[in-house]
Amino acid sequence: MQQGFIEGYRFLLTNLIPREFLSAKRREGIEAALQTDRREELVTEAYLCMEELSDTGIYLKSGFRKTDDAVILEYRRKNQNSGITLEMSRGEYDSLPHMQEEERTRDRFTEIIMYIMSELSLDGRSTLVADKVTNILDLTSRVNPGSEGYLVLDSSLTLEARADRIHQDDFYSIISRNLYRRALEENYTYTATDESAISESYFCGPDDIRSITLIPLVAQFGKIGVLEIHHTSSEEIGTDNLRGYTLIAQGLIRLMSNNYQLEKMVSVDRLTQVNNRNYYETHVPLELERASRERKPLAFLIIDIDHFKNFNDRYGHDVGDIVLRGVAGTIKNHLRKIDLFIRFGGEEFVAVLPGADREPAMRTAERIRNVIESTEFRGNRGEKLKVTVSIGGSIFPADATDQDELFRTADESLMKAKRSGRNRIVFYRKEEN
Ligand code: GH3
Ligand code: MG
Ligand code: MG
Repeated sequence: MQQGFIEGYRFLLTNLIPREFLSAKRREGIEAALQTDRREELVTEAYLCMEELSDTGIYLKSGFRKTDDAVILEYRRKNQNSGITLEMSRGEYDSLPHMQEEERTRDRFTEIIMYIMSELSLDGRSTLVADKVTNILDLTSRVNPGSEGYLVLDSSLTLEARADRIHQDDFYSIISRNLYRRALEENYTYTATDESAISESYFCGPDDIRSITLIPLVAQFGKIGVLEIHHTSSEEIGTDNLRGYTLIAQGLIRLMSNNYQLEKMVSVDRLTQVNNRNYYETHVPLELERASRERKPLAFLIIDIDHFKNFNDRYGHDVGDIVLRGVAGTIKNHLRKIDLFIRFGGEEFVAVLPGADREPAMRTAERIRNVIESTEFRGNRGEKLKVTVSIGGSIFPADATDQDELFRTADESLMKAKRSGRNRIVFYRKEEN
C-alpha cells in the first residue's frame, strides 16, 4: 500500500502535473522531492504544485473531502475534462504548509476579482459567453471547495451555446417554483435547506446536497435570473463565503449585461432602428426550434418596397432614407411584441410571427400592405411621400420545414406578387408548386 502510494505520487509528479505552467521554484521542488523519494516530501510538493496551478487559474479546486482517516483534494483542469486528485492522511494534511486563514481569504477574493475581470475583457479571445459563464461559476469552488455553482437564466437572454450548468426558462416558469420565487420576487439572497425546496432545483444534483444558496441576479435592464450554489456540507455558509458568492454573482451580472449591450449594438440597424441580419441569424433558428418543440405554426413574411429604385431616383437617397425609416417603424407598430421584425437588406424586411397560421398571417400581411399604402410620409421639406409594399408569405411547417426553405418559398411568393402588379400579398401554396 505504502509503495503503491509513493508510486502514485511519483507518477503524478513526473507525468501528470503540467510543468510548463509552474514556477522555476516548483519545478526544482519536484526534482528534489523525486530525489528523496520520501512520502512526506512527495505529498507536500504535489500539494504546493497544485495550489500554484490553481492560483494561476490553470486548475480549479473542485472538491475537498475528509473521511475518517484521509483527506481528498480534487482539482479540475479549466476548460478541460480532466482532473487531479490528491489523497493523503489527516496527519499529512495538517502538516502541509497552509496559509493563514485570513491571508487565504484575502488572496481568494483578489483572485476571484482578477479572474472575473479577465473573463469580462474583450481581448480577442473569442470565447463563447456560455463558456465564460461556466468559468465564472467554477469560481464557487474557490470560495468554498466542494460548492458548485449553477445559473438559472431568463430565456429572453441569448446564449450561443448550451452548457450543463446553465438552465434557461421563461421567467414566469422560473418563479412558479418556490425555490426560486423568493430569491426573484423578494430580491433576497437565502439558503434553502429543506428537501422539498431543494428537489425543485433545475439541476437534479447528487443526493448529498445539503443546502442551496440562491442569489438573485438583477441588472440595470431587469432581472436576469438566479445564481444557485449547491453545498455538500451542512455547515453554516459564513459571511466570508457569502461575500465570495456575491462577487461571483456581480461578475455574472456584469458579463450578462455586457453581452446584452453588445448584442443590442450588433443586432440593431442604425438607419431604421429595427433588428438587422445578425439578429435574423441568431434569433430565427431559436423561434423555429421553439415552434417545433411546441408544435405550433409560425408565419414567415418577406416585405419589399415597390419600385424603390425609382423613388430614390426621383426624390434622392436622403428622402429615400426617411421613407425607409418610416416604413420600418410603421410595420413594427402593426406587429405584436412577440413577432420578430428584421431589416433583411436594402428595402427588404422579414417578419416572423410565432403561432400564426395562414389565416391570421394573411390578415396581418394585409393590414401591413394597407397601412403602408395609406400612409403619407413627410420628407424634410414637408413634401408628402407615398410608397407601397409587396409581401410574400410562407407557413411553418405546412409549406416549409426549415429556415432556408421558408425563405425560399416566401421569396418565390414575393416574386409572384411583384410580377402580378405589386402592392399585393401572395402566400405560398404547396399544391401550386
Ligand atoms: P421592386 O418593386 O421590384 O422591388 O423594385 P425596386 O426598385 O424596389 O427593387 P431593386 O431591388 O431593383 O432596388 C432596390 C432599391 O432600394 C435600390 C436602392 O436604391 C434602394 N435602397 C436599398 N437600400 C437603401 C437605403 O438604405 N436607403 C435608400 N434610400 N435606398 C435604398
Ligand atoms: Mg423593392
Ligand atoms: Mg428588394
